[in-house]
Amino acid sequence: MRVHITLECTECGRQTYLSSKNRRNNPDRIELNKYCPHDRKVTLHRETK
Ligand SMILES: [Zn+2]
Repeated sequence: MRVHITLECTECGRQTYLSSKNRRNNPDRIELNKYCPHDRKVTLHRETK
């Protein structure tokens, strides 16, 4: 039940991380605070399709 997702930085718009999630636990788009190497700080990252 795990699907692959891309995490996009909401500040610079770059797709920074590849990840996966459990669709049953997270049926909606997920948002995570992650370190962005472009911004050089922790920013909010959102799942993209
Ligand atoms: Zn960024």
